[in-house]
Amino acid sequence: MRKHIVAGNWKMNNDLAQTQLLITELKRANKTSEAEVMIAPSFTNLWPAFESLRETNIEVIAQNMHFADSGAYTGEVSPGMLKSVGVKTVILGHSERRAYFNETDALLAKKVNAAQQHNMRVIFCVGEALADRKAEQHETVVSNQIKNALFHLSPEDFGQIVLAYEPVWAIGTGETATPEQAQDMHAFIRKTIANRYNQQVANAVSILYGGSVKPTNAKQIFAKPDVDGGLIGGAALDATHFFEIVNAF
Ligand code: PEP
Repeated sequence: MRKHIVAGNWKMNNDLAQTQLLITELKRANKTSEAEVMIAPSFTNLWPAFESLRETNIEVIAQNMHFADSGAYTGEVSPGMLKSVGVKTVILGHSERRAYFNETDALLAKKVNAAQQHNMRVIFCVGEALADRKAEQHETVVSNQIKNALFHLSPEDFGQIVLAYEPVWAIGTGETATPEQAQDMHAFIRKTIANRYNQQVANAVSILYGGSVKPTNAKQIFAKPDVDGGLIGGAALDATHFFEIVNAF
């Protein structure tokens, strides 16, 4: 069976005190689902989050990282730095990184390679803009993002990747892809992977859906056969809402 994962992307929200408060609330939450749970606080809060979640089954993950081990990259954070504060998983290719920080597929391929060299798991985000969907180019856009950044990997290395399909028009907008739209794209992604590798590799990869997932729509989205979890933005900032989504599995 594929791994089910629900990951909260806190983005640039929550200072130290707010992080500690939200974590206290998360630790009180009652988990009834078998899904793996992850939270991605800001870089400055990774260590305190890791320390206070040490004895729990909530994993602390990073929202981004640089590809180099060290050097003159002012303002950046390396894979080794993340690992030194307990981080084993990193989100790469989020649409906000692509849009506001000009992250290209070529740069993301380097980051993916760096993560794998450091034995870090990657949650790799893909997704089309509204104009792409209106022009019926959504499948082409998403398959190109996957091909350009991931298809150089060996089948074994590809097997370490978790994908997150996040239509840009659904992120932070309140607009959600319908469960059918999510299922169609996830099935298309799996078919694309099967064509490049094989059906076994495609069947094993977890594909998360992200884009305005809320307690009210999580169950219908997670019920789709190719949806293996969620990447949650806004709703992850509220412990009750987040765990209602986690428990929707
Ligand atoms: C995200 O940024 O990964 C995301 C899915 O955000 P939201 O849930 O707020 O749409």
